[in-house]
Formats: sequence, structure tokens, C-alpha cells
Amino acid sequence: MRTETEGRSNGVSVSTVRETNLQLVLRTVRELAPCSRSAVASATGLNKTTASSLVADLMARGLVRETGETSRPRVGRPGVLLALDETSLTAIGVEINVDYLSAVAVDLLGRELATRHVHVDARAAGPEASVRLVAETVRETASAPELAGRRIVGVSVAVPGLVDPSGTVTLAPNLGWRDVPLRDRLTALLDDPGLPTQVDNDGNLGVMAEFRDGACAGTPDLVYVTGEIGVGAGVLSGGTLLRGASGAAGEIGHLCLDPDGPECACGRRGCLEALAGIGTIVAAAVPDLAAGGRPWTGPEVAGLVEASVWRAQEGDAAAVAAMERAGAWLGRGLAGLANVVGPGVVVLGGYFVPMGPWLLPSVRAALAEHTFAPDAGGCRVELSELGLGAAARGGAAAMVHALDTGRLPLPEPAGGQGK
Ligand SMILES: [Zn+2]
Repeated sequence: MRTETEGRSNGVSVSTVRETNLQLVLRTVRELAPCSRSAVASATGLNKTTASSLVADLMARGLVRETGETSRPRVGRPGVLLALDETSLTAIGVEINVDYLSAVAVDLLGRELATRHVHVDARAAGPEASVRLVAETVRETASAPELAGRRIVGVSVAVPGLVDPSGTVTLAPNLGWRDVPLRDRLTALLDDPGLPTQVDNDGNLGVMAEFRDGACAGTPDLVYVTGEIGVGAGVLSGGTLLRGASGAAGEIGHLCLDPDGPECACGRRGCLEALAGIGTIVAAAVPDLAAGGRPWTGPEVAGLVEASVWRAQEGDAAAVAAMERAGAWLGRGLAGLANVVGPGVVVLGGYFVPMGPWLLPSVRAALAEHTFAPDAGGCRVELSELGLGAAARGGAAAMVHALDTGRLPLPEPAGGQGK
């Protein structure tokens, strides 16, 4: 993370020092709001004139606003209070999955402004058409009435696969993608090719959403498990996202639990995903409806999940057994993860949520049985409350937080180069 002191090193341009200071003031207002200019100056160590000039700059960029209230300090004059400007800007997060596309727009506080959810068949569509669909969804989300008058600071895309730092999806077996330069392709298709974009793994962005906005928000050792056709995870350890040497950390879906088990989309046998992924669950829960065989289209997957849950509610033995069996495999897989990274909470997301009443008891039992530490090392398993848009939301929130840290360029002052 860049800090104020870094700006003092040789060869750093004045604009870089100013940008670094703008980010510092922005972070300070985020932490202290509502706060006066004097409070910003004393918290940052900047003198009052400089702090006021930086605040004016941030206001022109739509990042900070005056709340209309004044502070009442014990000594000195009252000052106008400042807060983050939640009215001027937005970030858009999109998740492309095997059977759906979700989009979430958030304000500077990370609060949801607009959402979209469409069923797609991304695998059949192929990468080119899927990227066009992402661009189209960004365009439609940006034109939602809730976003009227707002400038977009960035777009994030979540994918169920491995992503390299350049935004290329190196491997996404369930989408059938290999080496798809998603970020470059998307940038070329957006109305504003200068708009910052990022691409990340859906589990990684999902765990960030849970950490910021989920029921277990603030848990530093947190795991989010995606419950889709594929199964993946995002892992926070001590508040830090584990990416691994090449971005492949958290791929619990491909833990081999049964070498003689069913074939997985990755080409191996008996992976957790092949034993407990949504496709496997619905095939066993509603075999008559799922008889058409895979791959199913987007609306079909959602319909099969709904039918499975409905049958389980009716007490149908096959549906209940399918979920309990998947839960047992899932618990066994999570035990492997718990033994290695020791999470405090594992949050199950996606389609695992509606199946929770039948999955959870067997997940918890298998986790306790197969974890080395007593009581599963204190690891709880809970259901997500963020819905199918968790990764999209996590990506959008990551974009607005990236403004504070310099990982995303600050928007130009209104009336300047920005749109
Ligand atoms: Zn696999």
C-alpha cells in the first residue's frame, strides 16, 4: 500500500505526491466521517491549508461532500462536517457463471444501487459472445434510473476459474474457457475504453463481499464457498486474501475425495465438485426432470434447483438423500481446508443456500468428523445472505475501495476529462 511518506522519495512527481495525499484524505474521511477539515488535518498530519485544498479537490471529483452539519469542538471554531459523497459515483460488478449473469452497482459506501440477474448459457455461447453479453449488461446496468447522473469509476468481472494478473482467464473448465483475455476483450467493447476494469475469481470476490457485507462481516479468517455447477472458494487468512503463487489457491472443488468417483469437468475423477456440485445434486434429487442430461441451460439449472428444494420440502427421499450425500462430501472437503488454513467461519453461497436445510447438518457432521482439531477447530459453517450476486457485489465494492488505496485512478474533476 502506498503511504504519504512514499511521496518523499527522489524522483516522485508532484502529481504523484498530490494523488497519494488525496488517497490519504479519502481514506481518512471514510474512517472518520462525519468529520471536519480540522479533524482530517490532525488525523493525517497535513497542515490545515493543504488538507482543505485536498478536500476541495476530492469534492470536485465527486468523492467527498459536505453533510450540511457542523462540528462543535470544545475549543476552536465549529467546522462543516464532511462525508464520502455517495451521490455522484458508482462502480459496477458483474459475475459471469455457467448459467447466469449477475450485475450489481454500488455507491462509494458499497451500498447496492441497482442489480440485474439474467439466465444465460455461457458455455454454449462461448467466450466471444459471453464477453459481448458482459459488455451489454454493463451498459444496461449503467443506464438504470438508479444510476442517473452518476459517473462510473470502474467495472469488475467475476468468473468461475483461474485468472492471471492481466485479467486473462487461464482456465475455467465449466465454461470451457482456456486462455481467454477477458479484460482486454471487455475493455475494447465498452463505450469508454479508458474505464478501469478488473477480472477476478468468483470465490475471491465472494469472500470479500462476505467480509464487508455478509452476516459474518469482519471475520478475518473466513472462507466463502461458491455453490454452482462448479465449486470454488475464496479464502481470507488473517484478513488477507490467499491467492497462491499463480492464483490457484482456494480451488477446493478439485480436491480429490474419491479416486474411483465420477468424472469431473477438469478431466480427473472424484473431485469434490463432481461429488457435491449443483449438477450432481440435481441429477440425483430430481432424476426424472434432469434426465435430459448435462449441460443444462441457465433457466433449466435454476428450475432444477427449485424442483429439488420443493421435493425435499415434500419429504421426497431421493431429493433429501441427494442433498445429505452432497453435504457429507462437502464437509469432508471443508475438513481438508480447515486442517490447512483454520477458518473461523465457512460461508456457503450460491445454490447451496436454498438447499441449506438438508445440506448443513451433514456438512457440519462430516466437517467435525474429519477435522483434526476438536470441534472442527472452532470452524462454523453458515449460509450466505448475499444471494447469487455475492461475487458481483464483492467486485463492485472492491473497485470503490481501490480508490482509497491507489489501486484505481481517482476520477477526474466533474467537467474535466471524465464522462
Ligand atoms: Zn476436478
